[in-house]
Order: sequence, then C-alpha cells, then structure tokens
Amino acid sequence: MSLASRILGIPGLEVERVDWNTKIDVWAKPNKRPSCLYCGCRHLRIKATEKRTVKHSRQGNRVVMLHLKAPTYHCQACSRYFCHRFTGIWPRLRASGDNHLEVFETHDGGVTQNKLSNTHNIIPAMFER
Ligand SMILES: [Zn+2]
Repeated sequence: MSLASRILGIPGLEVERVDWNTKIDVWAKPNKRPSCLYCGCRHLRIKATEKRTVKHSRQGNRVVMLHLKAPTYHCQACSRYFCHRFTGIWPRLRASGDNHLEVFETHDGGVTQNKLSNTHNIIPAMFER
C-alpha cells in the first residue's frame, strides 16, 4: 500500500507533495490511466487536466485537504470524453464520501453545529443538505 493509500484510504493515487500545517494538504494525481468508460479501450489521450480540491477527512484534529489533478481523457476508439473517476470521491462534490459520513456521524452524536464547523472547517449551511 502506498503512502497515499494509507493516509487517505483512496487507492490509485500517487502523492506528489504533502504539507503538514494546521491542516494537511495533499497534492495527488492518478497513478495509472483507466480504460475507456464506454468501450473499455486503453488508447486514451489526456485532453486537459482539471484541478479539484476536496475536503477528505481528518488525521487527529487536522483536516485533510486533497488537491487532485483530474485528467479529462479522450478515447481514440470511440471519440468520447470523460473525466477521471477517483475511488471514494463522488463526481462534482467538494467533499469526499468519507468526510460526509464522518460529519453525519459526529452530528448525530449530539455535537453542536458550531463545534462541528470548527473541527471540520466547514460552514454551518453544509448541514442543511
Ligand atoms: Zn472508448
């Protein structure tokens, strides 16, 4: 298991840099190319790379922020485009699945929203979802 997998619990990531401050910033990119979502072909070209920042989880009381390079692939067999899917991170959501679950569980345990916003570094409006 790589360092990334141990810190993040997300397989398939290659960590480029980790900053240990008041929060933990992790820069990572996919460690291998997938095959085409539509036809399974492996001849993919990277068309563009998008940066995505997601709040992942906590190590102790520090928030882990993930800065991901998310490539957009172009399939040379079927000519379709698609974005890299990261295991454990939902497309188009700013927080990963783990983080949602953890906030939910802590909230359910009777911790106030204010305290939660402090420890999880998020705004109270998040809880309405
Ligand atoms: Zn294809």
